[in-house]
Amino acid sequence: MARKHKFDTVAIHAGQAFDPTTGAVIPPIYQTSTFVQESIGELRGGYEYSRGGNPTRTALETLLAALEGGKHGLSFASGLAAEDTLLRAILSPGDHIVLGNDVYGGTHRLIERVHGPWGVRNTTVEMSDLRAVEQAIIPGETKVLWVETPSNPLMKISDIAELADIGHRAGLVVVVDNTFASPALQHPLAHGADVVVHSTTKYLGGHSDVLGGALIINDDELAEKARFLQFAAGPVSAPLDAWLTIRGIKTLSVRMDRHCSNAQAIAEHLDRHPAISAVYYPGLPGHPGHELAKQQMSGFGGMISIAFAGGAKAARKFAESMTLFQLAESLGGVESLVNYPSEMTHASVRGTALEVPDNVVRLSVGIEDIADLIDDLDRALPRK
Ligand SMILES: *Cc1c(COP(=O)(O)O)cnc(C)c1O
Repeated sequence: MARKHKFDTVAIHAGQAFDPTTGAVIPPIYQTSTFVQESIGELRGGYEYSRGGNPTRTALETLLAALEGGKHGLSFASGLAAEDTLLRAILSPGDHIVLGNDVYGGTHRLIERVHGPWGVRNTTVEMSDLRAVEQAIIPGETKVLWVETPSNPLMKISDIAELADIGHRAGLVVVVDNTFASPALQHPLAHGADVVVHSTTKYLGGHSDVLGGALIINDDELAEKARFLQFAAGPVSAPLDAWLTIRGIKTLSVRMDRHCSNAQAIAEHLDRHPAISAVYYPGLPGHPGHELAKQQMSGFGGMISIAFAGGAKAARKFAESMTLFQLAESLGGVESLVNYPSEMTHASVRGTALEVPDNVVRLSVGIEDIADLIDDLDRALPRK
């Protein structure tokens, strides 16, 4: 694209030139493992073997980089495959990483239980407390600052620009997991982050029908290392998965608009209910991160957590009583889901500093009709 287009246009067109041989508007699913060579080592279109590169994956990777305003996009089989590749591209045994104390449970599990035994140490901190972050950095040993905002499941908002400054003063790679906001609402690279991570399984795919992960990196050398690992270790996205993710991304902006407006209406509705002791949603003026979210994001997202005054028993009963909100892990799809973090998504961090209170329920608000969603919630809530 010669002219610089706006986000909603980029989401539909970046990397999506029509197929030159047939004119097909949509880039095909190149469901092939290998590519015929003209002569030994002389490739026809630059492709050799699909672990190293596949045109459908290239279309997605170009699109991902454009969405985040970054130089290099890399697509993986899952969000955790992307994270693992990034960590191995940066860290060596003896290195240290600082991460938020309510990051996605699987991120903590990967760092603690997979990278830990290989000699990588970590410290978890309250990311919204900038002093605590500075104090957690060990000069010369800490290599990565891992930020997730909004965080999961308590929707804490961290200041990406401030954290990037702190990280860069200490020579760290500043990583932002942008899964909850999606690039439709937040651009971490523009605020100074070095790398953006996504579980494209969530809002980018958007239809709960495909797993995937992404890295968007500006630094050429780091991108080269990550690309080498992607090729050499093989955690790549399959052609069909890449194609489904592209298809999802085309409607990202319109979906996010509805996710945001539905979630705002639900957060305001639940905030007034006597059975609920807290509603965690950055779109509520009483949320501690509300002002920062207003500056850093262009919408407050579709994720809400709520705490029940009646404790774990009330929370569990609510989570199991709805019909439109289906009880399932994951988030970011067009359909509404409810999750009980302490025994589902965050079961792996029970007994650690990252433990989620057992009276908390997380909602992934879908794009159904808002009246039906509120009716479903009201039926599951204790009578006022
Ligand atoms: C789901 C999720 C991941 C992990 O992604 P997978 O695609 O499940 O491997 C990482 N970060 C966040 C914030 C997530 O919600």
